[in-house]
Parts: sequence; C-alpha cells; structure tokens
Amino acid sequence: MGQGDDGRRIYPEPPRRRSGDGERFDGWGFADSGFRILADGAVELSGNRYDLAGTKLPDLLPWVSRTIGVPLDPRDVNPSQYPPAIPAPRENAEFVAALRKFLADDAICCDAESRLRHGHGHTQQEIYAIKHGQLARVPDLVVHPNSVEQIEALVAAALRHGACLIPYGGGSNVTQALLCRSDEQRIIASVDLSRMNRIRWIDPENRMACIEAGAVGREIVASLAQHGFTMGHEPDSIEFSTLGGWIATHASGMKKNRYGNIEDLVLDVSAVTAAGVLARSGVSPRESIGVDLRRCLYGSEGNLGIITHATVKLFPLPEVQRYQSVVFRSFEDGFAFLYELERQATPPASVRLTDNLQFQFSRALKAAPVGLGRLKSRLEKLYVTRIRGLDPDEMVACTLLFEGSRAEVEAQESALFRIARKHGGLEAGAENGKRGYQLTFAIAYIRDFMMDHFLLGESFETSVAWSDALALCENVKRRIRAEHAARGLPGVPFISCRITQLYDTGVCIYFYFAYYYKGVDRPSEVFAEMEHAARDEVLRSGGSLSHHHGIGKLREGFLPEIMSGPLLEWGRQIKQAVDPQNVFGSANHGMGAGGPLR
Ligand SMILES: Cc1cc2nc3c(=O)[nH]c(=O)nc-3n(C[C@H](O)[C@H](O)[C@H](O)COP(=O)(O)OP(=O)(O)OC[C@H]3O[C@@H](n4cnc5c(N)ncnc54)[C@H](O)[C@@H]3O)c2cc1C
Repeated sequence: MGQGDDGRRIYPEPPRRRSGDGERFDGWGFADSGFRILADGAVELSGNRYDLAGTKLPDLLPWVSRTIGVPLDPRDVNPSQYPPAIPAPRENAEFVAALRKFLADDAICCDAESRLRHGHGHTQQEIYAIKHGQLARVPDLVVHPNSVEQIEALVAAALRHGACLIPYGGGSNVTQALLCRSDEQRIIASVDLSRMNRIRWIDPENRMACIEAGAVGREIVASLAQHGFTMGHEPDSIEFSTLGGWIATHASGMKKNRYGNIEDLVLDVSAVTAAGVLARSGVSPRESIGVDLRRCLYGSEGNLGIITHATVKLFPLPEVQRYQSVVFRSFEDGFAFLYELERQATPPASVRLTDNLQFQFSRALKAAPVGLGRLKSRLEKLYVTRIRGLDPDEMVACTLLFEGSRAEVEAQESALFRIARKHGGLEAGAENGKRGYQLTFAIAYIRDFMMDHFLLGESFETSVAWSDALALCENVKRRIRAEHAARGLPGVPFISCRITQLYDTGVCIYFYFAYYYKGVDRPSEVFAEMEHAARDEVLRSGGSLSHHHGIGKLREGFLPEIMSGPLLEWGRQIKQAVDPQNVFGSANHGMGAGGPLR
C-alpha cells in the first residue's frame, strides 16, 4: 500500500488469493464445501468455511420428504456425470496469432474444462446440462487480459479477424447470459476479467474508490475494510461475482436499504467497445450533461462492450453491526409490519421476511439440540406456540441486519420493535437473525446437492407494488401447483417465497421452486416450462420481469410484453451504433446474430 504524491489517495496492494479458495467447476461454490449424506442419513456441509459446516442435520431429509410428499432414500442417487462431452474448439489461426502479439502464453487458455466453465452460469438448466447432458457450444478459448490497453488490442483483433467476444466476471449469473448461441459460427473468446481485479485507488477524503471490473465481491469487501471503508453492495453471490458483472446485470445487494443498489453506488464507469473507449474526463458528485449514455452499460449483459473499471462511492465501516429477528403469526402480519416500517421508520440495512415454508426449512437446517440446549429449545417452542399462540404451520420469520452509528442503530431498533409489536411480532433474538443471514451462503450449495437426489430447484425474483405483492405471492404459488398437477408429476412441488428488499413503492420478492423429477422425461425442460409459466404469472400479477437477476437468454422472450416497439428499436439502434459487426455476440436480450431484440 502506498500514499499518492498528493498525499490524498491510497493505492492498495492487489488482492492475494488464498490457496484454498479454488472454485468447483461442477456446480456452485468453493471446491472444499458441499453437502453430503452421512451413514446415519443425516446431512452435513463439508469444509470449515461456513458456520453450518460440520453440523449434523438429522431433520433435513425427513423434512424435505414430508414437504414434497415423496420419501427420499439417501441411497437413491442420480450421480453427476460431470464433466460432459465438451465440443471441440473452432480454429481461427490469424486471430490467435494476433492475440499472441500482446498476451502472454498463460493468458490464452484452451483447456476444455475451463472453456466449459466460461460457457455457463448457474441456472438450473445449465447446471443440469453439465451434470447430466451437455452444452451445444462453449467458448473456443479463454483469454485473461490484464489492462485496458490489452482489452483495446483484443477488441481490435476481434474486429480484424472476425471473432466473437464474451466478457466473463464471476460466472454467477442466473439468466443464461454466458451461454453461447449454438449457431455462432465465429471463434468465441471468453474474456475473463480476473486479472483486472485491483482497487486502483481509494480517495478517503471524498469517499470514492476506483476499482477494476474483475474485482470479486469478497475481495473488494476485505480490501476496503482494511482502510476503514465499505461499498455496501453485498449480493448473496458476493463470494464470486464481480464489480463488472454487477454493473452488467444491474445487480442489487441485500443491504440496499442503507447503501443503495449498484446504480446508486457507481459514480463513473468506463468500457471498451468495438467503437472505442467509453470514458469521461472526471468524476463529479452529480451532473446534468445531456443524455448520460454510460447508463446503457447497466444491464448491458456483455452485449455492448467490456466494462473495465468504475469509480464507486464508499461509506465508513459501520460503528455497529447488529442482527435481530422477529416472528409473526402469519405472512400477512409480517407484510403489514414491513409496510408500516417503510412508511413510518428507517428500515435497517437489510430486512427479510420469509414465508412459513422457508421458516420451516431454516429450522430443518438446524443441528439436533443436546443437553440443556434441548430443554431451552423445547421451552422456547412451548412459549411461542402455547403461550403466545403462534401456529408452527403458519408463523413466519423476519431477519434483520442493522448497520450504522450506535445511536442510529438503537433508534432504528426501538422504532422497529415498536412497529413489530403492533403487528403481533415476537422478538426471536440476535442469534436467529445472524443464523438466517449466514445460511444464505450455505443454502446456495443445497440446490446442487438436491439435484443429485432427484430434486430440481431454482430461485427467481421480481419487484412489485405494495398493493399487488400479497396477491402476486399467492398467484405464483397457485400457478406452480397447477402446472405441476397438470403434468401429473410425482409428489407436490416445493414453492416458497420471501421479501428481501423494500422500496417506497413496493418490494422485491424471491421465490424458491423445486420438484421431484425421478421418472420424469426431460426433467430440466419440464422445470423450465413451469418456471416460464411462473414468470408469466408474475407479469400478469403486476410484477416486473426481473428485479436484479436480469434478462440474459432466459427471459428475452418476454421483452415484447413489457416494452413498446419503439423502445425495443432504440435498444437495437444503440447496439448497432457501438457494435455494428456484433463483436460482442453474447446475444442476450435477443441482441446479436439472429437480429437484435426480436
Ligand atoms: C447463489 C447466488 C446468489 C445470487 N445473489 C444475487 C443477489 O443477491 N443480487 C444480485 O443482483 N444477483 C445475485 N445473483 C446473480 C449474479 O450473482 C449476479 O447477476 C452478478 O451480478 C453476476 O456477476 P458475475 O461477475 O458473476 O457476472 P457473470 O456471470 O460472469 O456475467 C454476467 C453477465 O455480465 C456480463 N459481464 C460480466 N462482466 C462484465 C464486464 N466486465 N463487462 C461487460 N460485461 C460483463 C457477462 O458477459 C454476462 O452477460 C446470485 C446468483 C447466485 C448463483
């Protein structure tokens, strides 16, 4: 670390990767972590990275079996066939020769598994395909530029030699945004930004930092914290997703109530396009300078160019960080509490309201209490159910995370508990709140684990006005059940929701949907059909096409339903203006080879 010539800026050291931080290629997460079944049928998360790791979970499989109405036999496994057959790479000798003039040998990778990994994100369909099928097309090579100049040279080479480029951040998207079009005839180079992961500078006086696009969330958090700052952007994928990916997908983090969404945090962003570099001369607190075309980069999903770096706002690390939780008699009571909280008080950095099924799920992810713990747990249960009269099959939980100065947090906490009590809320303690947030990271591994036990699952999200939110939750659950029944699928579907972000005008809702697929023909396609129906129901019920996951290829078919013809044409013209040769051929939002934005 050094101090700048002017004494104002800090230049942090580049992040150092811990040697044990390898990512697994056959699903979500770190290679050292994953769920497994023990000889006695209990489930355990391996490794020592998460609080849940090493805890025996005896209730998980029995609870899932009861919930989906199918007894899960721990020995009945659909073993992953990873790695699948990987298509042979296409050649373009002139393009590769041009790359070798400015990229080191180790910055050009043709390894088959790496090409595969760069050709998908984490949708159910993609993960099922790499475990039980195959991808029709993957990048032909992966390149690792380490500077803006190298990216400019890369784009020039692609233009000259007819190559297609697809930017790659952390590969954590859930919209098929990295999936290659099977009819793409050109050589495809995945542009992996991981060597552009530095915090270039921190300006402590003006609370800003310039960060390269390939910086990974967890490393940004750690590095800024060393200097007493946070960016406050913490998506649940923070362990792997990158600053460039956040901008390119228009992301939202769980602490948005305090710090804002990605568009509130980015002050300036630069990109290399086929038409040249998009950049501004300086960063100002706010400007009125005509149409701000840099805004087109939010949600651009690799279609327009490569985001290279951005200047973001910083906040001092909070003096206090405190977890809490409250339980309510019903989802409706919890929802009424959220509405009043948003209207009458300052909501804490994060508030999450889970429905009863998710509340039960988080209980199934608990270790069996022993000794005094067992007594305490029984007494707590008796108090909540017998004395306070909450029904375990109806009650819901709200987890809370407060951040700020001591005085702020205390004021927020007391206002919040006052409103919660008005709605019958019962304080459930800091420990349950903390556990709820920590589970978020471990739960990301469950989907892949369950896939091996004949359960296909996925989350999807939307945002909706307060007045339509409760009906939307019910409509989507009803539609999933109806779609499941109409296909005569085994058992009952798992469908659950939670409210994760609050706005003046409405909320963000996350759904979790899974079904038992043993004996089902084309299970992944059947899942996709039902998810499509659920999205249709979201739109009919007044919800948005996406709150933060984006469009990719998963939802592009819905765009004509939410945008007028001239608006779609505008998008087409912007793409045409900056990339007439379609070098950036991700083809997300329908832009690209088959004609932009059908
Ligand atoms: C378990 C899990 C939890 C998640 N939680 C959240 C959440 O809380 N909030 C949220 O918003 N999302 C969440 N997501 C979705 C995902 O993490 C986000 O969409 C994230 O912003 C993607 O970033 P990435 O770096 O992984 O991008 P990638 O997946 O690598 O790429 C996504 C798209 O952006 C483009 N892109 C990437 N980098 C660049 C660049 N430098 N320049 C131009 N284009 C680029 C790619 O070409 C692609 O089209 C979650 C996903 C998972 C699997």
